Amino acid sequence: MRRGNASAVLRAVVTEGPLPRADIARSTGLSAPSVTKLTALLVQAGLLREHAPAEATQGRPRVPVGVDPSGAVALGVHIGLLRTTLGLVCLDGTVLAQRVLDHEAPGDGGLAPRRIADQAADGAREFLADRLGGRRLLGTGISLGGWVDGERGVVVEHGALGWRDVRLVDLLDGRLPGPVRLEQSVRAAASAELWFGAGREVDDFVHIFFGNVLGAALVVDRAVHRGPGAAAGGIEHLPATDEPGARCPRCGTGCLSLLASDTAVVAAARARGLRLPDAGRLPVEHLVAAARPEGSGIGDPRAQDVLRRRARHAGRAVATVVDLLNPSRVVLAGGILAADEYLDDLRAEVTLRAHRGWDAATRVVPATFGTGALLVASAMPLLEAVYEDPIGTVGPGGRAVAAS
Ligand SMILES: [Zn+2]
Repeated sequence: MRRGNASAVLRAVVTEGPLPRADIARSTGLSAPSVTKLTALLVQAGLLREHAPAEATQGRPRVPVGVDPSGAVALGVHIGLLRTTLGLVCLDGTVLAQRVLDHEAPGDGGLAPRRIADQAADGAREFLADRLGGRRLLGTGISLGGWVDGERGVVVEHGALGWRDVRLVDLLDGRLPGPVRLEQSVRAAASAELWFGAGREVDDFVHIFFGNVLGAALVVDRAVHRGPGAAAGGIEHLPATDEPGARCPRCGTGCLSLLASDTAVVAAARARGLRLPDAGRLPVEHLVAAARPEGSGIGDPRAQDVLRRRARHAGRAVATVVDLLNPSRVVLAGGILAADEYLDDLRAEVTLRAHRGWDAATRVVPATFGTGALLVASAMPLLEAVYEDPIGTVGPGGRAVAAS
């Protein structure tokens, strides 16, 4: 009972921002004395703290209680195709610090899971030594694309990395601050939207990621759907073109990833003679920069053309999703947002192709966290466990989970 009520208090504060105790009572339906006791417990656990009084009216000032960025935080780890990103993420989804670790160039067989795990573990140790300060770690959330079964801690398949049945949580156990929780990155991003973003206003939406990898997450009645084997959301090999010569090396057909991934759009630009460096920024970011007019220039028409085509192909896929599921929102994420001037092309394609979603284009929105979504998302599997049972996770004195 008390654990459930502590969860309700924490969830109210996390989603609504710092609140005076009276407002927490109103929002949760708990009595004022209960709220006073529970907030004291959560403050003691390092999850909440009292903020400066918001208003100076007559009588006693109303002291808001909010999350404590100097208290307890989660380590978020996103493993991408080209780099791993680490971040300290506050209970309300704020990223306090982050660091990027570039991967080595993949060999023919992809990137060995052990190398990536070693790099993440070593990088996290240094990052935390530099940036954690006096904060306490609640644990680690990891996310990556592909087919991921978070409950079993396994990456079932990540085609672009060349991974199959990788027991990632076992590989990292004891090397990252525990507990370590894993989730597929698009589903984790959908959770972040549910708590802090586009999902606050609607009960159902589809989150679609167009980046180096592709993926979708389906939210129905405010729950993220996983299905048997956590296999839901694989859109990368949806049939997309019959053009001869368009053959995906993994599925052998002209699939969506051949037309709408960051990798594909960069390859298409290079095939048309654009020089895109691999260093500094991601190649797709160099591509977007090349497309944009600078000063009185007009931008490179080849770069503009490949980006517009990608947006159109992505729009066709979104139209299929709209007809099939009729979601209240389609939340877009990934490298496609870096070129947001082409989102209207994507929307136009949705309008053209969707048979039932006459107003579907207006329901297509960018992810709240933009291109930085993956870091917040990575922390979500861990943060959700804390929201669910703050006292059980942290312990009444805040001692149960120590930084390692
Ligand atoms: Zn394919």
